[in-house]
Amino acid sequence: MTEPTLKQPVIKQHGLVIKTHSGFYTVQTDQAKYICQLRGRLKDQSKRTELCVIGDRVTFEVNADGSGAIEAVEPRERVLSRVEPSNFAGTSTEREQIIIANPDQAIFVFAVANPEPHVRLLDRFLIAAEKASIPSICICANKVDLIGEEAARVLFATYEKIGYPIIYASAQQNVGIETLRERLHDKISVFTGPSGVGKSSLLNAIEPGLARAVKSVSLATTKGRHTTVNSELIPVIGGGYVADTPGIRSLGLWDIEPGELDAYFVEIHPHIVECRFSDCTHVDEP
Ligand code: GDP
Repeated sequence: MTEPTLKQPVIKQHGLVIKTHSGFYTVQTDQAKYICQLRGRLKDQSKRTELCVIGDRVTFEVNADGSGAIEAVEPRERVLSRVEPSNFAGTSTEREQIIIANPDQAIFVFAVANPEPHVRLLDRFLIAAEKASIPSICICANKVDLIGEEAARVLFATYEKIGYPIIYASAQQNVGIETLRERLHDKISVFTGPSGVGKSSLLNAIEPGLARAVKSVSLATTKGRHTTVNSELIPVIGGGYVADTPGIRSLGLWDIEPGELDAYFVEIHPHIVECRFSDCTHVDEP
């Protein structure tokens, strides 16, 4: 008589995708990190869509060797995406590229001077974040030591008036750092802005070494043609994650028709119903 083979119980785990790297996904559970791959069935689907990105919550099975096989990706609450840079001249079919799933918060960092705030870019960021329905959106105005907080407030008055929280900060003089630290706590945050505005300095002021971790991710993910974008959520001490990928920095607006753009300008939104043009661009129309 042969011994009945004891079936190993299948252990299913749930976790958060904190890193993607050429078909491998690092998944953080409450207890540990697992390096996972997609189950075959999902792998086929993932050729067509971005099935698994940072910020996704997944169910996976732990293999005998300790690695994991992702069985299912939970439906996303929201995504922040951009237009994927076209691969080759001539084949410029635009494709959505999901930068991050389920971000809780976006913090857009600009300097009050050196470099001067690039408000058009800030508007783009804000629209992308509104479109993605990111629940918490705020602006960080750094380098207030250069012109003083009063002058800084004048620069960002419009944004303050339309309701965006603005954190006036100076990484150099430790201003606003505690507020930023509290904001990052327990959230998945997109923390981005143009280069030279002091993002690294702010992150390091919040937590020594945080910027280095973020930067090494960004450098490893240069624009590349059809290389997969490797992205990472960097854990913050005490809970929460910061994401900053080059993808976020070169945010091209995805899937927004000129006629619907007004809906994402929070100051225009309440007046849309009063406008007589349904596809108003609010440029030349009376
Ligand atoms: P990043 O490219 O956005 O990460 O910017 P960095 O953190 O590398 O900072 C760019 C430059 O701005 C560096 O020379 C910093 O020393 C300087 N800088 C950063 N924060 C401040 C600040 O609060 N005040 C002033 N005056 N300079 C700052």
